[in-house]
Amino acid sequence: MAAQLHSRNPRCLWRARQFLVGVAGVLLAVSVHAAIDYRVSIDKAAGELHVAACADRDYTQLQLRAQEGASNYLLGFTRSDDGALQRSGDRLIARTLPAGACIHYRVAAERASRSNGRDEGIQTASGSWMISPGVWLWRADAAGTLTLDLPAGMQASLPWLPRDTARKVYALAAGGGDWPSWAVFGDVDERVFDGDDGTELRIAVVDAPTRQRSDDLHGWLREVAQASLTAYGRFPVRSAQVLVIEISSRSNSPVPWGQTTRGAGVAVQLFVRRDASIRELRADWTAIHEFSHFFHPYLGNKGRWLSEGLASYYQNVLRARAGIVSEAYAWEHLDAGFGRGRNSAAGVTLAEISKNPRKSRSRQNKGSPIMRIYWGGAAFWLEADIALHRERGIGLEQVLAAYSQCCLPEAGRVDPDAFIARLDALSESSVFSRLALEHSTLRHFPNLNSSYQRLGLKVTSDRAELSRDPDAIALRNKIMGARIAPTQFGAR
Ligand SMILES: [Zn+2]
Repeated sequence: MAAQLHSRNPRCLWRARQFLVGVAGVLLAVSVHAAIDYRVSIDKAAGELHVAACADRDYTQLQLRAQEGASNYLLGFTRSDDGALQRSGDRLIARTLPAGACIHYRVAAERASRSNGRDEGIQTASGSWMISPGVWLWRADAAGTLTLDLPAGMQASLPWLPRDTARKVYALAAGGGDWPSWAVFGDVDERVFDGDDGTELRIAVVDAPTRQRSDDLHGWLREVAQASLTAYGRFPVRSAQVLVIEISSRSNSPVPWGQTTRGAGVAVQLFVRRDASIRELRADWTAIHEFSHFFHPYLGNKGRWLSEGLASYYQNVLRARAGIVSEAYAWEHLDAGFGRGRNSAAGVTLAEISKNPRKSRSRQNKGSPIMRIYWGGAAFWLEADIALHRERGIGLEQVLAAYSQCCLPEAGRVDPDAFIARLDALSESSVFSRLALEHSTLRHFPNLNSSYQRLGLKVTSDRAELSRDPDAIALRNKIMGARIAPTQFGAR
């Protein structure tokens, strides 16, 4: 993890595992009759997590799985009855487990948190335990519930969908114990911010040195969350976990590392430089970029230009709408991004780069092919937005709002072609498929001259000149114009 923390390029990782393919929508199917309840308690002094996995019906055999390497942290396991229980690699196997019986196991949580293994644990400043659930939760593939019992003075942030407002009970979707996600136990200040329609972000600041710093970081993220609501007023997912972890870093960026995961529920992790001022954080784009990934499903490598493109487009658009940056600033930064994309990976199509970025890098190209993915993708979304306004009289956000209502899965991968086809259907147009075909097959960065003309936009020496032509103003306002997030926003 240490190497990643200092990496700036790419700063955003969109991660999910292939095995989740096909479980789309399964969270919705979690019923109150979940098979296993995992009761989690903590022995703080011993640095241990204790889990009782209790059956609500008879099992002829029950297997609990954990991620590879988790057995290094497994301290012991027993059954509440006298039946057989054995470990085989990363599995605990119980035969003939009757309803009501429990499998008890203990995990060296503190030690796992200090492993600093890429997918195991991350050491936080004051010793909170940040651990992959795959390490500490040995669980069945079936859906279940998790009930949390914390000792006094310890808080937690978990990646799953909460079932109660006190965030003591969580719904576990079906799908094994091998997902990238994070749980934190310790000095965790989690506050919930509401969107419309019951959507929420659970924003957790870990190890803030003072109450004031925690308040400041929450204030910053509330502003970012508010900016993401300027798209259509609610969050695209029901409940997402946002972790803010302060780190020491020599990076120039106030947020040296950010990523979105959607293994155990949609989540964002933001690693913030300890000495970053709120002013620096407000000027940074990483957080809104990550929040913008909520608007689309996981699209795999093949669709990376679409996912990174949307986040790169919206990191500018939504901040301008919220008044965090000026309209001119947003156009200037989009234009600068397009410039970086134009200078990278010429001669290769977006489809080819997305499939194999390394191969594209080896060709005679200036710049990282990553820039072509991000900003070539952003160019696609800008042109789609303009085309929607011209041809359908609607904005991109309206199509994405409809998509989130009907079709956005919280887990699992969506084929990029199917995603595009769905956006076409929802917009009753062929805007997305037409432009996707055009953009993904070009061997050079697209010529945006006619789009710039429609927008009345000219950028000279990094300064945007915005024309006073009424049509251009109207179009620009539709995209970047100030929007007050329709939802009254607050902490609870
Ligand atoms: Zn990204």
